[in-house]
This record gives sequence, C-alpha cells and structure tokens, in this order.
Amino acid sequence: MSKRPVFRDDHEHFREQVHRFVKREILPHYSAWEQAGVTPPELWRRAGSEGLLNCALPEPYGGGGDFGHAAVVIEELARNNCLGVGFSIHSDMVAPYLHTYGTEKQKNRWLVPMACGELIGAIAMTEPGAGSDLKAIRMTARKDGQHYILNGQKTFITNGVNAGLVLVVASTNPDLGARGLSLFCVETHASGFSKGSPLYKIGQHAQDTCELFFDDVRVSADNLLGEENAAFEYMSRELAQERLAIALRAAASLEGMLLKTVEYTSTRKAFGRRVIDYQNTRFRLADAFSQSTMLRIFLDDCLRQHMEGDLDPTIAAMAKLNATELQGKVLDELLQMHGGYGYMAEYDIGRAWADARALRIFGGTSEIMREIIGRSL
Ligand SMILES: Cc1cc2nc3c(=O)[nH]c(=O)nc-3n(C[C@H](O)[C@H](O)[C@H](O)COP(=O)(O)OP(=O)(O)OC[C@H]3O[C@@H](n4cnc5c(N)ncnc54)[C@H](O)[C@@H]3O)c2cc1C
Repeated sequence: MSKRPVFRDDHEHFREQVHRFVKREILPHYSAWEQAGVTPPELWRRAGSEGLLNCALPEPYGGGGDFGHAAVVIEELARNNCLGVGFSIHSDMVAPYLHTYGTEKQKNRWLVPMACGELIGAIAMTEPGAGSDLKAIRMTARKDGQHYILNGQKTFITNGVNAGLVLVVASTNPDLGARGLSLFCVETHASGFSKGSPLYKIGQHAQDTCELFFDDVRVSADNLLGEENAAFEYMSRELAQERLAIALRAAASLEGMLLKTVEYTSTRKAFGRRVIDYQNTRFRLADAFSQSTMLRIFLDDCLRQHMEGDLDPTIAAMAKLNATELQGKVLDELLQMHGGYGYMAEYDIGRAWADARALRIFGGTSEIMREIIGRSL
C-alpha cells in the first residue's frame, strides 16, 4: 500500500519496531497460546518495556505518543493474524477511561503499571442478561459509608483471566435504568471477587475471555471512576474510539489475508493451472482489493478526524459496520480460494475467518451500529 498521509515518519518507524516485536515475541508462540486459551503475562511486560501499551497517553502516565501510535499496534497485530492478543481493550479502552475520568491518585496508581504491562486491564459491561441493552444491567453497587458493595456477574470479558484491574459497570440507582449506572475500578484481589475459566470460543482462542463474579465485593469510594450515575454518558463518549479501533483491526486483518491469498493462489495448482490464473479468482480478488482500498481511505480519514479530536460517533459506527461486515464477507471468499486447506486450523485464513466473527458482535453489534446510523438520518 502507498504511503498513508495520516501517519508521520515517527509512526512508520514505530511500525517497524512493532512489526519486529510481533515476529519475534508473538508469532513463534501463538499456537501454544491458542492451546492454552490465554497469553502469558510475560508478553505484556515485554510489550510494556517496548512502549507498545497505552502509547496514546501522555508521557507522565507511561505513554508519549498519540492515537496514530495506538493504531499502528492495532494494525500490526491484526495484519499478522493475532486478533486474540488483547492489547487494544487494555490500551485503547481501559486506559482512556482512567485517563479521562480518573482522579490524579487513580491515574498514578494504575496507569503507569498498565503501561509497563505489570497490570492488565479489562472492562466489564456485559452480563448474561444484558449485552446490547445496557439498561438491563443487574449488577449493583450499594453505598455503605466510605465503601461500595458490588454484587452480580459479568460475562464475555476480554483479558478477564489475566486482568489485575477491571472497570466494572454497575447500577448505583436501579430506578434510573441506564442513567443510574456507574463505573468502578475493581482490583481482582478484592475479597468476594472471582473469575471463571477461559470461555471456549469458536475463534480468538488465545484470548482469555471469561466470566467474572462479584459476591459482596467491598471497594473504597475512591474506586468510583468519575461521577456516580454518569457511566452511560462516559460510555457513549468513549465507544467511538473503541469502534474505530475495531474497524482498524478488521481492515488490517483483511489486508493481511488478501496478500496471503494472492501468495497461496499463485502457487497452488488445479487442472494444471495456478488458481490465480482462473478469471473467477482474479475477479474476486480484484473486487476485494478495490473494496478494501476504499475502506482503507475512509478509515484513514476517520483516524485523522479522531487524532484531531472530532470523530463523530455516527461516523465511528459506520466505520465499524463497514469494516467488520466487509472483513467477514471477504475472508469467507478468501477461505474458499484455499479449498480444503482453508478449513485447516494451521492455515492463517481459517483462523482469521473464525477470529473475525466476533468483531461484528463486540463493541456493539452490526444491528446496533445500524440503529445508531439510522437514528441520525
Ligand atoms: C469474543 C468476545 C469478547 C467480548 N469482550 C467483551 C468485554 O471485554 N467486555 C464486555 O463488557 N463485553 C464483551 N463482549 C460482549 C459483547 O459486547 C456483547 O456480546 C454484545 O454487546 C452483544 O450483546 P449480547 O451478546 O447480549 O447479544 P444481545 O444483545 O442479546 O443480541 C442478540 C441479537 O439481537 C440483536 N439486537 C439486540 N438489540 C437490538 C436492537 N435494538 N435492534 C436490532 N437488533 C438487536 C443483536 O444485534 C444480536 O444479533 C464480548 C463478546 C465477545 C463475543
């Protein structure tokens, strides 16, 4: 791909560094982590020491770059088919909440260890009975003097097993529905808190997605993030960045697999001809390259807008919807071009196809994206 104007030279140098990191520290071990259902905490410390975590935060909190650097990390992981590494939730979601809404004490306590990879972050909104519909959240946080007492259950939590800090959405005023939700920083050694085993998913096997249980978990009032009953407003603001991050993952994964498929079909022969020599293959690849190029130009513009601080949440929803739907459609066709090998887990395309499926679901489903876009019309 030609030079992308949204990235400066320092971003591109950083990309080379991240690329080397992925090749050296991740790819040789990725299958073993998929078997284990989790990435080792040591990976996070290594990533932290190379400046790959929380890189968009200001320097005093362990960052020093901007969202362009965060985008580089997101893209290099996805392009190399490592969608199961959960750096993005940690760096592009948990850290920004703490940075934007946290007190100085909270930031100093958690952001620096997060940037070093000593502390892994997760965010817990979803419950068994509440995913798209946040006002159905049942988890409660009851005030008790200088403490809150949390009770309830969360599910599908990315980085759940490794997490040392979880941002938890709980109701502080059930009468107010979504407007009665608050955010709490819960350290996972808190008494009454427990984690389930990694959930057995159809893809993203290296990702330690799990359930979390809260049984009279007592946290100090200092662990409330921002204002009481303001979580819905905070989430509405922060979800635009999460959706852009997911869109960037989808596009980079798609681009990575397109190149792999050109390689594969250029060597694989059927009926004495290379698979790419069939017009059907070339036409489909041509369509896919054209669509992914158009997507890339749109996403780079979204990224520019976000770096300038004015990405509209509806545009972010369009980015997520377009990118993840195109990723799903094209990866399915690319898998088909691999024939039976496409269905074998050892081939990148099969893993990419299964890993991609979750991107149309988390961070708001495609239907919710359409709702957001539709409402704006
Ligand atoms: C791999 C993975 C990782 C995840 N990580 C996290 C995490 O770290 N933290 C976290 O909190 N959650 C996480 N989630 C949960 C994810 O955000 C939810 O699964 C998602 O928001 C959908 O919620 P749900 O599963 O309850 O589906 P539901 O809300 O029950 O939706 C079921 C279906 O109904 C549709 N639907 C719902 N409402 C509407 C509507 N108004 N109009 C039209 N259609 C509608 C949906 O689009 C979907 O097709 C993760 C999920 C997965 C799969």
